[in-house]
Amino acid sequence: MKILVVEDDRALSGMLVRMLQDSGFVCDAVYDGETAHERGCTEFYDAAVLDLGLPELDGISVLQGWRDGGCAMPVLILTARNRWSEKLAGFNAGADDYVTKPFEAAEVALRLNALIRRSAGHAKAILETGGLVLDTLSRRVTDGGKPLKLSALEFRILCYLLHYPGRVVSRTEFLEHVYDSNGDPDSNVIDVIIGRLRKKLTNARITTVRGQGFRLDTLEHDALDSENAQP
Ligand code: CA
Repeated sequence: MKILVVEDDRALSGMLVRMLQDSGFVCDAVYDGETAHERGCTEFYDAAVLDLGLPELDGISVLQGWRDGGCAMPVLILTARNRWSEKLAGFNAGADDYVTKPFEAAEVALRLNALIRRSAGHAKAILETGGLVLDTLSRRVTDGGKPLKLSALEFRILCYLLHYPGRVVSRTEFLEHVYDSNGDPDSNVIDVIIGRLRKKLTNARITTVRGQGFRLDTLEHDALDSENAQP
């Protein structure tokens, strides 16, 4: 899951990015409102962390610009303590949640996880498909009750698939959501990682959909498919 971090305080931004990376996110950091506006409108992010006091263009205007441009990603705003008017302006402009400064870094990750899950239609912190279970809080994955050991990239790809089970995810979509913009991703890497995941999974299958991408299927989906195939 890829996060846009908009914070002009470089030290705070660096701390946030490191902490989010430790929590399994990939991040792009920008430090002013103009760049934030442009990135949010032109690149794909699963969520944004947005400071409100920014150079060039303030955070509320950035958020309004994103929403006016049809950008619907979940946005978590960073506000000063006891500034109710700031929170209200943020929500009116289309924010989904807020944390007040100074914040616990871990809280930002927890709230982002919740926002991303809900925007993908999941109410609970546990993503479950067939016997495959991913806890977005502890980042533990089990398959048929058996713990799975995954590399960071394997985790990010499986986590993305588990947010959208049964839907085809293209290689481009993976590249947009599991790498930051400074990376030089190669779509062949996606195929390699998918290959490794296939060897590790027993209760779910990653199906290649020719010319389109990959789909996470379970035995339940297989049963439904064969029912639908009945004349
Ligand atoms: Ca600021």
